[in-house]
Amino acid sequence: MTELAGKVVLVTGGSGGLGQALARGFARQGCRVVISARRRESLQIAAAKIAQDGAQILSVPCDVSAREEVRNLAAEIIKHWGGVQVLVNNAGIARAVGFVEMPDSLWDETLATNLTGPYNCCKVFLPAMLQAKWGRIINIASTTAKVGYSHVTAYTASKHGLLGLTRSLALETARQGVTVNAICPGYIDDERTHENARAMAEKTGKSVNEIEKLFAASAPQNRLIEPDEVASLAVLMASDKLGGMTGQAISVDGGAVMA
Ligand code: NDP
Repeated sequence: MTELAGKVVLVTGGSGGLGQALARGFARQGCRVVISARRRESLQIAAAKIAQDGAQILSVPCDVSAREEVRNLAAEIIKHWGGVQVLVNNAGIARAVGFVEMPDSLWDETLATNLTGPYNCCKVFLPAMLQAKWGRIINIASTTAKVGYSHVTAYTASKHGLLGLTRSLALETARQGVTVNAICPGYIDDERTHENARAMAEKTGKSVNEIEKLFAASAPQNRLIEPDEVASLAVLMASDKLGGMTGQAISVDGGAVMA
């Protein structure tokens, strides 16, 4: 058993590639893990897979961009396990398109999911952490939170914003037992990245393999990041071993962004 055993951990976007790895990482520490996302079916499939290792897992559908749904999620968790002690804001969307062609709806949806989503979750789940004088908020950002990339203005703006939220909230909570940190992954070896590679291959006429090699080559280590590498850092961030770290944005990106 570890020091995190029994803690209630919420992973938003828990049905996605990284979300499942995060949930599994915390479950292995003996945590009680809640995963949420909008689509019930994929959420249930993910929960069943994670539960195979004997994990205590609860899946609750929720759109993080809707405050009322986040409140309902909190009520559901309280009914089962009480307050959330570790919040992992992982739900996110990313679509690549040139700025001029980008529909306003994509800007709105990206900001609503990637920035207002974590804001909503912090609003709903932070008060109980402050009351308990212990809590962890881990925001899954991206290397795009630190530098600009072409054709992803909405995504980049949302992740830069998430870093701003992380830093300010870390200051406000610094003396109250709560830490707020961000993880900035590079290209992760998951379905999302393979899907992006397929889309880029179609647009550019290059093969999927060529595109994936380009993704890997954007990191000095010349490789994609394993979801478990990100999960390991999240677990460490949640532990008391890193209780002195707050307001930080740590890259897990094979050396791509050294800032
Ligand atoms: P996926 O597309 O595999 O998963 C995204 C998850 O978020 C799904 O569970 C999805 O489920 C959920 N989601 C999307 N919109 C909402 C919403 N409005 N409310 C609640 N849940 C939502 O992506 P990844 O696992 O790759 O990405 C996870 C995080 O990691 C994101 O924040 C992403 O920006 C970040 N990241 C990913 C990188 C990569 O290379 N893959 C690199 C750097 C950062 P549903 O659609 O059912 O709601």
